[in-house]
Amino acid sequence: MIFKIIKNVFYSLLILILMFVTSLYWPRNIDKLEGINTKLPVISKQTPAIKVHYIKTGEVTTLDAFTYSGGSIFKTKTLTHGAVLIEHPLGNVLIDSGLGENAQAQFSEDMPNYLKPMMAFKQITNTKADIVLRKLPKPDKILLTHTHWDHASALEDFAEIDVLITTQEFEYVSTHGVPDIFPSQVENKEFNWKTYNFENKAYGVFEQSYDLYNDGSIVVVPLIGHSPGSVGIFVTNQKTRRFFVGDAVWNKQAILKLKPKMWFSKYLTDSHENDVEKVIALLNIIQQQNPEILIVPAHDADAWK
Ligand SMILES: [Zn+2]
Repeated sequence: MIFKIIKNVFYSLLILILMFVTSLYWPRNIDKLEGINTKLPVISKQTPAIKVHYIKTGEVTTLDAFTYSGGSIFKTKTLTHGAVLIEHPLGNVLIDSGLGENAQAQFSEDMPNYLKPMMAFKQITNTKADIVLRKLPKPDKILLTHTHWDHASALEDFAEIDVLITTQEFEYVSTHGVPDIFPSQVENKEFNWKTYNFENKAYGVFEQSYDLYNDGSIVVVPLIGHSPGSVGIFVTNQKTRRFFVGDAVWNKQAILKLKPKMWFSKYLTDSHENDVEKVIALLNIIQQQNPEILIVPAHDADAWK
């Protein structure tokens, strides 16, 4: 027992030291994209008056340097685990599920011991409890940016409603395991998984899209890389257009400064690093050519506006 604990502490320390040294000396740059037009469609006057509510269920404070390559070693950054509730006249949509009632039990059961010190989080609440406490409307469906454990934790608390994912992501969640997918969250659970495919309907620079209510207010586009079926979700009301980009980056600075996650984080969590870098380059030029858009990475509450 003692030997096992010493071994786990030793490996965790070794990983932290390696991450620290590498982030110090080898920040990686992504080439800027030039010469493409990423202008988004003009917001239609018919767009319904939808509301956006942010639900913060947990957080992790870490070194800024651990959140993207080249981040500061003198600053900390608080990453958030949460969900976003979209109030829509045709049905309220929860983007990702946040931490659920059993998040701590899921974590202790499925997170490998050597990663526990690094991935540990402070739970503030769970999504369902926060919705009740704040008297927010109930979600009618869940739209996942991807199926990693920190986004899927509360699914079992909403087992009666549909969970929308792409066919690629369904294949991924059905065939993969720890540390990204937690069996305790998805195995032997009766979810109403609803898979969808993109239509060949362009939305800005994206050649394919999926318009949830066919009114331009919630439009999903592929952002493949972090997981095989990761998506980005444009949420538009009459005034504001937000772009929820899941875990393409953890820190919005990574988009502005064209940096990937630090090497160990991307090794651990990105399915296809090269594709993630292409996504970051695309997000950078989208932000530049559409300065009014609010790009919102799932874990960066500083971008929750
Ligand atoms: Zn993820």
